[in-house]
Amino acid sequence: MVNKKVKAQHKTFKKPLKKRINGHGHLLPTPKQIPSFMKEKKFFWVDEDKQYMRQGNWSRPITDKSFFLDEKMEWMAKNNIDHEVVLCLSQLYCNGVSEKDTLDIIRFQNDFNASVQHLHPKSFTTGFVVQPAHLEQALNEIERCASMGMKLLCLSTHYQTSSGEWLSVCDASVEPIWQLANELNLAIEIHPYDAGKMVKLTNQFWRHHLVWMMAQTADTHLMFTYNGFAQKFPNVRTCFAHGGMLSQANFGRTIQGVEGRPDLFPNARHPRETVKQPNVFYDTLVHDVHTLGLMIKRNGYEQIVWGVDDPYPLGEMSTVEGCYPGILLEEAIASYVINKKQRKAIMHSNVIKWLGYDPFTK
Ligand SMILES: [Zn+2]
Repeated sequence: MVNKKVKAQHKTFKKPLKKRINGHGHLLPTPKQIPSFMKEKKFFWVDEDKQYMRQGNWSRPITDKSFFLDEKMEWMAKNNIDHEVVLCLSQLYCNGVSEKDTLDIIRFQNDFNASVQHLHPKSFTTGFVVQPAHLEQALNEIERCASMGMKLLCLSTHYQTSSGEWLSVCDASVEPIWQLANELNLAIEIHPYDAGKMVKLTNQFWRHHLVWMMAQTADTHLMFTYNGFAQKFPNVRTCFAHGGMLSQANFGRTIQGVEGRPDLFPNARHPRETVKQPNVFYDTLVHDVHTLGLMIKRNGYEQIVWGVDDPYPLGEMSTVEGCYPGILLEEAIASYVINKKQRKAIMHSNVIKWLGYDPFTK
C-alpha cells in the first residue's frame, strides 16, 4: 500500500539542484539490433511487436515501453532521472553456455551497452559482463571493454563451471578477474539470476525472484566478506544489488558462525571487517523503509546508492499503482529514516563514488 502523503508529494515534486543518478537499470536492444544467431540458436530475442522477450522456452512480457532506449530517455526526463547506470541483461550471463557461443553473446551485449554510453555519455554509464567459467576469454573481454571506456563490470552472483557445479563469483577461482578489475580501477556490480537453476523448487509465486535471488546475493556477500575481497582488492568498488537484501538480516548469524566454529573458517576475515568499508556499496531497491533503515544504520548512508531496477515490475515502476522512481526514499524521509541531505548523497555523490567518475564533468 502506497502512503497517500508520499504520493501527493510526488505530484508537486520540483526538480532538485543536484542531478539525480539511478544506479540500477536495464535496457533491451530493439528486435532489429539483436543479431540473427541469437534467435536462431534460441539464446535471446525480442518479438517484432516488442510485447515479449524470449530465451529458449522462457518468455517474459515487456511491461513498459522504457525497456527501449528512446522511450527510456523520455521516461528518465519525466521522472527527473538525469543519469542512469545500465547494467547488463541478466538473461545474458551465459551460465552453461559453450565458450564460443558465450563469446558471441557477451560481445553482442557489451558492444550494445558500449554504443549506448558512447552515444549518450551524459545520460548513461553502461556496464559490461563476462562469464567466469571461460576465464581467459573473460580476462580478454575485460581488457577490451575497459579500452572502450567502460568502467563497470557486471557479475552474476554465481556461475556454473563446465562440470555443472555452481560457484560464487567471490570464490577463489574468480580472483584473476577481481585482480584485473583492481588493476583497472573498475566498479563491480553483483546481481543475482538463475536461482531457478540452482534451487530445485517448483516455480510458484515467483519465489525464485522473491526469496532465492535475495539468498544468492547473501551467499555471495558472505563469500566476499569471509574471503576479504574488499581488503584484497582495494581499488574495486563493489555494489550489491537489491541492498544485498538477505545479507543485511543475516549479518549476526555470519558472526555467530565464525565465532562458534572457527575451525570451519581457516584464514577467513571477520564479517565486521567489511562493514562500512568505503569500497562496498548497496543499492536502495528493498521496497521497505525498515530494511532500508537497517542497511543505513549498519553501513552508513554514505555506502548506499539509489537503485530503481527499471523497467522491471519489481523495480520502482508505475506498473504497480502509485509507485514511482524514488518512492522508497520519499517514504524514508516521511518516516525520519533519512533526511533530505542524505537523500541527495544517495542519489548523487554516493553513486559517483561507487562508479569512480563523475559523468557530468566528463
Ligand atoms: Zn536488476
